[in-house]
Amino acid sequence: MDVKNLWQQVLEELKIEVSRPIFQTLLSQTDLSTLENNIATITCPNPYIQSLVEGRYYSLLKNTLDGKTQKNNSLLFVIKPKAQEKINNSDPGPLFAWQNEGKVYQDKSGLNPKYVFSNLVVGNSNNFAHAAALAIVQNPGQTYNPFFIWGGVGVGKTHLMQAIGHAILSKNPNTQILYCPSESFANDLVSSLQTKTIPSFKKKYRTPEVLLIDDIQFISGKEYIQEEFFHTFNALYLAGRQIVLTSDRRPEEISKIEERLTSRFMGGLTVDIQPPDFEMRMAILKTKSQERGIALSEETVAFLAQMAASNIRELEGTLSQIVTQAAALNRIPDLVFVKNYFGFKSKNRSKHLNPKNIILSVAKHYSLKTSDLTGTSRRKEYVLPRQIVMYLLREEVEAPYMKIGELLGGRDHSTIIHGIRKIENEASLDSNLRQEINNIKQGLYE
Ligand code: ADP
Ligand code: MG
Repeated sequence: MDVKNLWQQVLEELKIEVSRPIFQTLLSQTDLSTLENNIATITCPNPYIQSLVEGRYYSLLKNTLDGKTQKNNSLLFVIKPKAQEKINNSDPGPLFAWQNEGKVYQDKSGLNPKYVFSNLVVGNSNNFAHAAALAIVQNPGQTYNPFFIWGGVGVGKTHLMQAIGHAILSKNPNTQILYCPSESFANDLVSSLQTKTIPSFKKKYRTPEVLLIDDIQFISGKEYIQEEFFHTFNALYLAGRQIVLTSDRRPEEISKIEERLTSRFMGGLTVDIQPPDFEMRMAILKTKSQERGIALSEETVAFLAQMAASNIRELEGTLSQIVTQAAALNRIPDLVFVKNYFGFKSKNRSKHLNPKNIILSVAKHYSLKTSDLTGTSRRKEYVLPRQIVMYLLREEVEAPYMKIGELLGGRDHSTIIHGIRKIENEASLDSNLRQEINNIKQGLYE
């Protein structure tokens, strides 16, 4: 029997032995690559799964395999060599051939191989910027020049900018591309002045066909740097070279910068990237967890997308911490784990967690009386807090809709459902509201 079939049979048997989530997230991800001299080499997609499977299911796997083969085997766990990058169907294929060719260009261009189009999630907050970036890839230097991307911290400016560089390289590997943060430009200039190597500085920055300057706002207030950058910009621009810039604010809002530079920056296309909305946070969490080979349930992803900050870097950080903590504790990052991580619904439920207290906490938070919330008045300032009560009663104590209606002075269940949906929607879009609700929740668990 070949190893593939054999492992299939082992897995079939294990499927009955363990719970479905364990099977799906862990065991079904393994493969038997060889079985020689009674040593079974089992591949796992990543170290996280390897440590869980090896740590917890070694004997189960061994016994099952031994049973099937009638031999006494030893198991060796290894990480599967990385499969070829999956190419996202919605992306124009040929652009990404570069990724499969390894890091050949990385040293010269300063590009980070991680920041490519195929792993960039496109959603409401960045679809315009993304479309413009693709247009630039088609015709560098001729479509939008300069291309100026601005937006808050961690929203994906650097990622998008570098993806442009990679995609151009994949079309034409000989293109001269230079990525550099504006601070490096400044440091380079200063040191070339000290070492009297200005010509090589000029050569470095004035020859690329595509110049990607990240975080241009750092040259604010640095007159000499601005002067040199102005000349660099003009030299490239006149030669029809593509210039891409990023900044944490619009060109005209960068302070202490020469007017003539601002107007150069605004001479092409300026786009912004907004923080991701709920839907996009979901998509990003799914992509990032898949990249790590971790299967999170839909509801876990939804919960995380609601809780986590709206900036993508923090979102990634939170996911990473959860995954690391789960691995360290030998746990699966399921909804219960993730809720616990945020301090909610811990095993020893807080004694403050009851319907009466939820109503009281919300009333207190908004400086209202509980009777304002349970009464019949439709005054505007009562509506939101009342809906938050509905939401929290459902979320935190899983009260039935009817019960929530009763607690709130006899409202019917369709009003309650409507209120809960409304908060869910608004909280997913409005980070201030999310924060407010989280503060009330935290109070309930103290
Ligand atoms: P910025 O330059 O705006 O501060 P980055 O480009 O450094 O943000 O992005 C921060 C992190 O978030 C990076 O790890 C990046 O890969 C990731 N990221 C940003 N935007 C996206 C996106 N749309 N899809 C997937 N990952 C993203
Ligand atoms: Mg950046």
